[in-house]
Amino acid sequence: MIFLLRGNSNFELELEKSQTFTDTRMSKHFKHYDSYVTFMDKVKARNPHEPEFIQAVDEVARDILPFEEENQDYKGVKFFTRMIEPERVFIFRVPWIDDNGVFQLNRGFRVQMNSAIGPYKGGLRFHPSVNLSILKFLAFEQVFKNSLTTLPLGGGKGGSDFDPKGKSDNEIMRFCQSFMTELSKYIGNNADVPAGDIGVGSREIGYMFGQYKRIKGVYTGVLTGKGLSYGGSLIRSEATGYGNVYFSLNMLERNNIDIAGKVCTVSGSGNVAQYTTQKLIELGAKVVTLSDSGGTIYDKDGINDEKLAYVMELKNERRGRIKEYVEKYPSAEYLPGSRPWAVPCDLAYPSATQNELHGEDAATLVKNGCKGVFEGANMPCTPNAIEVFREYKILYAPGKASNAGGVATSGLEMSQNSLRLSWTREEVDQRLKEIMGRIHDQCVIYGEDKENGYVDYLTGANIAGFVKVADAMMAQGLV
Ligand code: GLU
Repeated sequence: MIFLLRGNSNFELELEKSQTFTDTRMSKHFKHYDSYVTFMDKVKARNPHEPEFIQAVDEVARDILPFEEENQDYKGVKFFTRMIEPERVFIFRVPWIDDNGVFQLNRGFRVQMNSAIGPYKGGLRFHPSVNLSILKFLAFEQVFKNSLTTLPLGGGKGGSDFDPKGKSDNEIMRFCQSFMTELSKYIGNNADVPAGDIGVGSREIGYMFGQYKRIKGVYTGVLTGKGLSYGGSLIRSEATGYGNVYFSLNMLERNNIDIAGKVCTVSGSGNVAQYTTQKLIELGAKVVTLSDSGGTIYDKDGINDEKLAYVMELKNERRGRIKEYVEKYPSAEYLPGSRPWAVPCDLAYPSATQNELHGEDAATLVKNGCKGVFEGANMPCTPNAIEVFREYKILYAPGKASNAGGVATSGLEMSQNSLRLSWTREEVDQRLKEIMGRIHDQCVIYGEDKENGYVDYLTGANIAGFVKVADAMMAQGLV
């Protein structure tokens, strides 16, 4: 018995093995299909206008609902039903004045999703697309991700629909101060510890940290991603990108694939994409693409250290557009309005944003011989894309496992702040590698199909992340 993906248009792969995509997991859990449908119908009715949140819940429900049903410890206690309801959500007004003296208004959010295993932890995103659906999906994913890190971190997420693009430094500072004036009421180093995400880097963290300190009169590790001179950790900037590459190395090694010489496509050109590229270059792989919301650059000769330094200066200092790369390096091509997935590659590292790699893109990657896809961003692959990877047994690393290095190193920053010590670069990097190895191993334990050895890393991550949080909730009574 097979089930078609509900609510998604199916399409045919133009490959030898052409067939309609099936819902692999619900096909396996045939007897739980009706209760899954009823559950998801309720989720949709209860969270209208929240497509990203519903998508994220659906991706986990297909593993966890059958798992709860089949395990006496979890059956009937509705852990998952509780876990999709945020413990608390704050929505607030953020007024500020631009450089022309004009009053501006944005909306601020903090979603405190789950504190069963530690204080809420998760980034702040400043982007015009930010709304409650996006932040609930990110906070929900963060709960599983933080659980997988093996560190005591609950899950949360926040941000604003503020668009940092084109804003002056002073405007950014005024916005950050206004945002933190309200947010400071809801966070604390033992309660909720925000960090960066899209649109929030060390500059914004610095302004927010300064404002928190002025309001509260305390010097604590209330934010992570801080500058090195005021409590930040070495390797934090690099951690998400490096961590994803370390995770991919674990997967590749398990399949006897050497990363050296492999052609890699990377999407995005922010912090995650930059350090993914840096680590891949260091390991002898050849990175041929980067992108931003305007389009993709394709450098068939490979991006080397010098070219990457140019990208970092372009994006982090001048805050320019990726298309300028081809003016500086004319042998590269600019593909306006495109993402990198049509460029032939061995390995793909989607590192831009959610839903940036669709079923058709996945089919193209498979057709071009891609062997693995490793998510640096949060939920960059759509459900159809993931089904293509499953169908063709492509190595697929879900972001909640493979991009957990960022928040894990935030956890290490919190530890250093508590100890009032700073660890060396080597020490933090070593801990990051070990954590990524442990996350990988948990995914294998819960995601390996013993019959054929194929590891479904998404199923593994969902179940491993769930078990730790559910066990803590069980011990704490009805929370
Ligand atoms: N925003 C990052 C993430 O998606 C990091 C969060 C943090 O360091 O708290 O995991």
